[in-house]
Amino acid sequence: MENCIFCKIANKEIPSNLVYEDEYTVAFNDLSPQAPTHVLVIPKKHYASLNELDDEKLMSALLTAVKNVVTKLGITEYRTVINTGESAGQTVFHLHIHILSGRPLKWPPG
Ligand code: 5GP
Ligand code: ZN
Repeated sequence: MENCIFCKIANKEIPSNLVYEDEYTVAFNDLSPQAPTHVLVIPKKHYASLNELDDEKLMSALLTAVKNVVTKLGITEYRTVINTGESAGQTVFHLHIHILSGRPLKWPPG
């Protein structure tokens, strides 16, 4: 989708620190990391949020990508987050899964 920063990253129109890629997804380091490891996993295809995602194959591909990323990074303890909607903290409206690791993470979140 035009003017979507994550589409541009997925299409490699703008540079990012890609940590993983497969047929359906890419993963890259967050610009403003909230933990020593902070990776975003996104579908190559644009979906504004989880609410729009209607493709079960892609749903499974996204979790497979998360598992491949953590395996590649050698981490076994991490948090995954999907913010959906402004009040839940979503600021980029291209579906993404946060992977956070490398420091103690409190629960419940703020
Ligand atoms: P949200 O708040 O929507 O769940 O998460 C959006 C995330 O995208 C934020 O953690 C923010 O730091 C990250 N982000 C925003 N713009 C860019 C960018 O241009 N490049 C990268 N690598 N991360 C970005
Ligand atoms: Zn997009």
